[in-house]
Amino acid sequence: MARSVLILGSTGSIGTQALELIERSDDLAVAGLSADRSWEPLVEQARAHGVTRVALGDPEAAARAARAWPDGEVLAGAEGLVRLVVESGAELVLNAVVGAAGLGPTVAALGEGVDLALANKESLVVGGELVTQLAEATGAQIIPVDSEHSALAQLIDGEGAGTVERLVLTASGGPFRGRSRAELEGVTVEQALAHPTWDMGGKITIDSATLMNKGLELIEAHHLFGTPYDRIDVVVHPQSIVHSLVHLCDGATLAHLGYPDMRVPISYALHFPDRADVPVRTLDLVELGALTFEAVDVEAFPALRLAREAAEAGGTAPCVLNAANEVAVHAFLAGRLPFLGIPEVIERALERLGSARVHSFDSLYVADTEARALASELVAERGAPA
Ligand code: NAD
Ligand code: MG
Repeated sequence: MARSVLILGSTGSIGTQALELIERSDDLAVAGLSADRSWEPLVEQARAHGVTRVALGDPEAAARAARAWPDGEVLAGAEGLVRLVVESGAELVLNAVVGAAGLGPTVAALGEGVDLALANKESLVVGGELVTQLAEATGAQIIPVDSEHSALAQLIDGEGAGTVERLVLTASGGPFRGRSRAELEGVTVEQALAHPTWDMGGKITIDSATLMNKGLELIEAHHLFGTPYDRIDVVVHPQSIVHSLVHLCDGATLAHLGYPDMRVPISYALHFPDRADVPVRTLDLVELGALTFEAVDVEAFPALRLAREAAEAGGTAPCVLNAANEVAVHAFLAGRLPFLGIPEVIERALERLGSARVHSFDSLYVADTEARALASELVAERGAPA
């Protein structure tokens, strides 16, 4: 019997690559699909994969899809997305939604005890403690899709308790690696979207340019592996060949290598604990010649420092960090905020809102809403690029 997989965010970069892998595999089948607004490609995917039920975040898009696809059922809104998860009967949910909107489906899947292939790192940034507690309570597994965390999970697997001393996340450095703060003034959206090694959705590509992506991944790693923040390092590695490393207690360091291709970690998560063939080239080290590493320039890229500070503060601070980042990135992409305004808006939002205790998922939704409102004001105050 093929494993049935529900794909959330199926029209995005991770979602379409996952569908490609499922199409090639006899061991996997699609249980359902979802997107936010892109209803036409979603309906096309549903027809191609014999799916009878989909969800669209945007109610208007859902209404259009329902009219155009009378043979299928279209659920709408955030509630529709949660219903799709809860009623799908899937054995695995791939959450490839972008942003804090992914938290609801993450909670829904884990709450039902369904294993979760998690690309949506924001779920863990915003609600890490509650999300991991929920998984523990229901026995559902979280299998990371993020390349660094997939690498770390594979490296840590099989190591006894207490043998892993430090985790090292690698970062490509993004398109602006090597630039000073002054040289980041006035960079354009087009330049920021030109990632040197990975081809990804817009939001994560900007996060990679500011290095906030690595900040979010630091928090993600902490929750996935239970590692204290002072034992997680970040190193810049421009070739994106080493996906992450672990230092062990006996002086050995293990690394996970491969060409930058998200199909590898996606396939690992979809087939876990088995492995399947993925049509990628075998690594040729002679052709690569050299792999290089350097320290992060936190002066030019303060986002990583902000993430570390929010992470150490805990409570609602990572939720505020994430919400302010989403608002600022959105404003940058829309030409309403300069590139250097992104970390500025986040820093001010964190200063103003501080950290409160998290009692329940509701306190996270409240903190998220408040942070978005404040960040929007801060964006307007900062003004558009000159
Ligand atoms: P993307 O923008 O290409 O796709 C996002 C998908 O989510 C789309 O299908 C979109 O319709 C859907 N979506 C957006 N907003 C939504 C909402 N409010 N409600 C419901 N659905 C919504 O993004 P992506 O690059 O595929 O990234 C998805 C997630 O995976 C992100 O959390 C990202 O950080 C993570 N990730 C991506 C990559 C990559 O290579 N793209 C690598 C590592 C991690
Ligand atoms: Mg990553």
